[in-house]
Amino acid sequence: MIRKVLIANRGEIALRILRACKLQSIATVAVYAKCDANLLHVRLADEAICIGDNAPHKSYMNASAIISAAELTGACAIHPGYGFLAEDANFAHQVIRSGLIFIGPSPEVIAQMGDKVTAIATMQRLGIPCVPGSDGPLPDAPEAQQKIAQRIGYPVLVKASGGGGGRAMAVVREASSLISAVQEVKREAKVSFNNDCVYLERYLENPRHVEVQILADHLGRVYCLGDRDCSVQRRRQKIIEEAPAFDIPDSKRRELHDLCVHACEKLGYLSAGTLEFLYEKGTFYFIEMNTRIQVEHPVTEMISGVDIISAQLSIHSNSPLGFLPKEIHLRGVAIECRVNAEHPISFAPSPGTVTVYHPPSGPNIRVDSHLYQQYCIPHYYDPLVAKIIAFGADRSEAIARLRHALNECVILGVDTNIAYLKRILANRSFQDRTYSIHFTEQFSDGALV
Ligand code: ADP
Repeated sequence: MIRKVLIANRGEIALRILRACKLQSIATVAVYAKCDANLLHVRLADEAICIGDNAPHKSYMNASAIISAAELTGACAIHPGYGFLAEDANFAHQVIRSGLIFIGPSPEVIAQMGDKVTAIATMQRLGIPCVPGSDGPLPDAPEAQQKIAQRIGYPVLVKASGGGGGRAMAVVREASSLISAVQEVKREAKVSFNNDCVYLERYLENPRHVEVQILADHLGRVYCLGDRDCSVQRRRQKIIEEAPAFDIPDSKRRELHDLCVHACEKLGYLSAGTLEFLYEKGTFYFIEMNTRIQVEHPVTEMISGVDIISAQLSIHSNSPLGFLPKEIHLRGVAIECRVNAEHPISFAPSPGTVTVYHPPSGPNIRVDSHLYQQYCIPHYYDPLVAKIIAFGADRSEAIARLRHALNECVILGVDTNIAYLKRILANRSFQDRTYSIHFTEQFSDGALV
C-alpha cells in the first residue's frame, strides 16, 4: 500500500500526479526549486520541501536532495513524472536502494530502453519491426561508417543512442557529408547526454509518428490502451497529439498492439510505457520506447476511460486495477494541443507574470494546467503551460471542439503559441489527415493549403 507519494517534478504534470494521489487518498509531498514556491501543486500538497536552486541539476535532477526529502517526510514512493529524472536508471536504483518505491519499470528495463541501440536490438529480438539501420553503435573508422551507410541506403539519419527531445540528429543525403555529420552529432550528444555513442537509421522521407500506450500490472498482465498519432511536431518535438491514430487498417493496428503487448510481457515490464513507431506506406518501424508517463497521456485517457496515473499508483500498491486487458474499450477521438509560453511566430520563450487567465471549459474539454492569475512563469524550465484536450464522437467533432476551446482561452501577460495552434487546426491538410511528420515545416513554407 502506498500511503504517501513524493512528486519529483513540477508544472502541469506535478499537479496531475497530485490529483491522482488525492483520488486515492494518498498523502502528497511536493519538492520544488526556489523560484517554484508558488506552483499550484506546491500549494495544494500536504507537505512541500524546497530542494535547491533553480537550475534543474540543482533541484529537480538532484537525486540525493529528492531522496532525502522523501526520507524526511516519510514518503514511501516517488513519482518522477516525465523529463528530469524520469528515465534515469541510476535514480530509480537509488530510490529502490533507499527502501522506497519507484513509480515506473525496473531500473534494468529503464537502462535497457534508455540506450536506444540496446532498445532497438532488444525489440528486434522480440519480433518488433525496426527501421533498417546500423544494428549497433557506429564504429569509429570512417571506411566502416561509409560501408554501413551504403548498405542502409541514403538518406540516413545519424542519431544519438542516449538522445532525447529531438536533439542530436542529422539527416545525411550523400556519402560526402557522412563523416562530418557523424562528428557533429557525436559532439552534440557528448555535451547534451554525456554519451557520444551514435547509430544510423534509414531516414524515412514521409512517415507519421504513431505510438502505442501500454500499462503493465504487478501480476504480469499487460494492457494495451490503444495508439496515438503525434505527427504534428516542431523541431521533432510534438505539439498536437491525438488518439486513436487515424487511417490504420484494423488488422494492422491489432497486429501492432499484439506485438507491443508480447514484447512488454517478455521484458517483464511494469507500469506505464510507450512504444514509439514511424508509420510509412503501411509499415511500422520501432524507433524508441519511453519508460514513463508521457505528456500526451490525456488523449488516451479520454478515449479509454482509464486514469493512467491512478492506475500506476494502484499497480505499485499491488492493488487490482478493476478491469482486465480485454475489458478496455476505446471510443471516439481525443486531440491535445500543447500551449507553450512562447512567441507564436518566433517561438522565443516568453516567461513572466500571467495577468489574465481564462481557461476554456464545456462538455468534453479537459485542461491540464498549473496556471492561475498572477502566476509568474520562470525562464528555467520547459515552456509548456497548458494542455487543452477535446473529445468528440469523431475526429471532426474533436477538432471543432478544440478550435472553439482555443478561441475561448485567454492567457495575457506572456506570449503563447495559441494563435499558431489555431492556424494548424484550421489547416486543410490537418483536417484531411494528409500529412506526415513534416507538417509544420511545410505549413510554414506555405506548401500546405
Ligand atoms: P527523441 O528521443 O529525441 O524524441 P526519436 O527517436 O523519438 O527521438 O525521434 C523523434 C522524431 O524524429 C520522430 O518523431 C520523427 O519525427 C523523427 N525521426 C526519428 N527517426 C527517424 C527516421 N529514421 N526517419 C525520419 N524521421 C525520424
